[in-house]
Amino acid sequence: MLTNSDLVELTEFRRALHMKPEVSGEEAETAAAIVAELEKLSPARILTKLGGHGVAAVFDSGVDGPTVLFRAELDALPIEELSENPWKSQVQGKGHLCGHDGHMTMLLALGRLLKRKPIAKGRVVLMFQPAEEDGSGARAVVADPAYADIAPDWAFAIHNEPGRPFGYVSTRIGLINCASQGLVIRLTGKTSHAANPEDGISPSLAVAELLPALSALGQGGDLDDAFKLATITHVQIGEPSFGISPGGAVIYVTLRTAYDEPMENMLKAARSLVLDAAQKFDLNAAFETCDEFAASINDADATNVAIAAMNAIGIANGDDGLPMRASEDFGVFGWSAKAAMLCLGPGEDHAALHNPDYDFPDDLIPVGAAIFERIAHDLLG
Ligand SMILES: [Zn+2]
Ligand SMILES: [Zn+2]
Repeated sequence: MLTNSDLVELTEFRRALHMKPEVSGEEAETAAAIVAELEKLSPARILTKLGGHGVAAVFDSGVDGPTVLFRAELDALPIEELSENPWKSQVQGKGHLCGHDGHMTMLLALGRLLKRKPIAKGRVVLMFQPAEEDGSGARAVVADPAYADIAPDWAFAIHNEPGRPFGYVSTRIGLINCASQGLVIRLTGKTSHAANPEDGISPSLAVAELLPALSALGQGGDLDDAFKLATITHVQIGEPSFGISPGGAVIYVTLRTAYDEPMENMLKAARSLVLDAAQKFDLNAAFETCDEFAASINDADATNVAIAAMNAIGIANGDDGLPMRASEDFGVFGWSAKAAMLCLGPGEDHAALHNPDYDFPDDLIPVGAAIFERIAHDLLG
């Protein structure tokens, strides 16, 4: 059980993290702060620099048994925070607006509980992964050779999800978060004087044709197995000037599918639309892919373990609002472990994730920690 002093200290720690947000791939100071806290909990091992700035702490019973991993994320967002709170972000243009500061703190709370009441068999891994927001972190952690030593049999994560009542959890067996993929399209022609556009090769008409064509690749609608959505997120043609007929264009499009397999085809279809348009208008086309998120799919056994744990400690739960269109890179941990993601409500009227006025509610820290603690002891005694 967390004491009043625990809650005071954990809240202080969460707010300190909140004031110093670091974005994906740059989480050096956050990782150092986590290591300093973990050292106080005397785990068997602390691993650092996992897949970037990732940190893991291993609590080992010394008795044979399964390994259970609990995951939090280190990174913040490149968004300016709007807040009157004394713990408002002190870094211009960056903010912990997805609640990862709270998720990290829930894991440290679990560490305190495990120190007081150790597991009877197997191991617990507290995993603080880097770069969740751009979809690169979980893959990098799992691909890190050091991960083999801590590869879990079970993996669990809690993400706070506004729109749900405070302390209520949604989860389900199967799809939780869609697969998604960013595609950057660069079209290159030739600039010319705006008075003589016929002397150049402008990408304007190709872009005008591509925007509706790319959007038509996926129109959203119900989130069933065939779900597809293409969202144009950025377009630039030439430079802001009146004297130049443009010689280049950039289009950003985010492709989204329910599962990983249809993504391949959607990506192929997008590329072929662009190549056709490039040929028609005599342009060169180049592609870049980024922010590649696998679908996040809950294993049946892991979901049932989590539901039993929540029922045992009186946490209301159901499957409302699932699956979600938004992506989450936790799915990668489920490639080699029985994994389940739980969506914990911060209150129905709470600001949405990635909004400038979002802040993680500290009162969720003991709720998340209690769910994790019960899962750990249910699986490991
Ligand atoms: Zn986020
Ligand atoms: Zn998040």
